[in-house]
Amino acid sequence: MKKDGCIFCMIANGQIPSATIYEDEDFRAILDIAPAHKGHTIILPKEHFDNLYETEDAFAAKILPVAKRIAKAQKKVLGCDGVNILQNNEPAAGQTVFHLHVHVVPRYNDDGILPVWPQGSYAEGEAATLAEKIAKEV
Ligand code: 5GP
Ligand code: ZN
Repeated sequence: MKKDGCIFCMIANGQIPSATIYEDEDFRAILDIAPAHKGHTIILPKEHFDNLYETEDAFAAKILPVAKRIAKAQKKVLGCDGVNILQNNEPAAGQTVFHLHVHVVPRYNDDGILPVWPQGSYAEGEAATLAEKIAKEV
């Protein structure tokens, strides 16, 4: 299903032109309009999903192989030192466009472009208790 007025639905389905680097029956991958580094790519499903939670497992499983191909192409063409695969769900996690997409971000040694998260800690036994609680829901 497409969603009326969704810009990523329109881009993914070719109704709005984009700098496309990959396309298959399920996805279009395009250069991000505001790249973290040149070559920063977003993979857009042609169907509309607000986020990852809404996808079927079989569909979600198709995304990572596409990200891998793009990461390897970035390594080859850009000579980047590493690649982040990122996917944001909901505003608290940084999602700004509510059509599922996966970022493939070329990285360079010491580029410092992404914040590293704080290194927290657990009290004695806390990790085991929490792991058990989450494991029941996975
Ligand atoms: P989010 O923050 O939702 O994970 O990422 C949305 C991404 O989409 C941002 O990196 C933003 O630059 C990119 N973006 C938003 N609108 C457009 C657009 O019209 N064209 C392209 N190519 N990228 C877009
Ligand atoms: Zn959409």
